[in-house]
Amino acid sequence: MRFKDLSQLKRPEPLNISFGNLPQHILMAAYAKDKAFKISEHVASNFEESFEWYGFTLASTDHPELIVDIGLPKNDLNLPDYTSLGSIRIAEFHESLPEDVMINGWIHSHGALNYRHFSDTDDKNHLTVLDFVAARTRKSLSKKEIAIQDLVLLEKNRFVEKDLAKGSVSIITDGPIAEAKIMETVYGSFCYSIVIGDEGWHEQKIHYQERGVLSGHTALSSKAAQIEFVDTGRSVTQVDISTLQDEVQKKIKPHTDPPPELIERM
Ligand SMILES: [Zn+2]
Repeated sequence: MRFKDLSQLKRPEPLNISFGNLPQHILMAAYAKDKAFKISEHVASNFEESFEWYGFTLASTDHPELIVDIGLPKNDLNLPDYTSLGSIRIAEFHESLPEDVMINGWIHSHGALNYRHFSDTDDKNHLTVLDFVAARTRKSLSKKEIAIQDLVLLEKNRFVEKDLAKGSVSIITDGPIAEAKIMETVYGSFCYSIVIGDEGWHEQKIHYQERGVLSGHTALSSKAAQIEFVDTGRSVTQVDISTLQDEVQKKIKPHTDPPPELIERM
């Protein structure tokens, strides 16, 4: 058998209808940005040295894409250039939030270091945060056809066990049909990550997760993203500053004598 054109051998593209998008850039209240840099100032002045610290970016549940605030959890360990982050800490912090506030990412500082990009440790932390945040930032993105080889269509009460043994997927309908497409919802989630430095710089990424509800097909990706600062009418007040001062005292734990295995990981 000969084909005139190789394209004749191609299967038709699976049907894909999209009806939602994940954010392509980060929206952040100017208030949240100012607060993040204030935390760095407090860390530097409290401990007379600049340490990495981390916090969570917070959004209102009715607008998950806009960072409106920074939440400071109890940091397990703060070293000059290493910060650790675990899923138990994220869950604990999430529990402490009001019902209408959610975590949509994390932010951390590289202190006085001029290391203006994410480290390997940061990349591991991103995945930990994404894993937790994904369930909360999830939305349906598309309906996508699942290409099934050997789809078998059967009619209710009109097949025998042997018919079920055939094919890879069987659909049992209440009437005779000749053709069927199976479309699954693809859910997408995102998580922001921002790194800042004492000198005022910031870098950021968005991490994405997509998952087909039926096939279980999961894809992870990330991209460097622009950040758009939004004036939400809120600014950092003197009260905020003294509250933050107390929080930093309580939650940031500089560790000046780390165990050797941690030094190796820095
Ligand atoms: Zn880092």
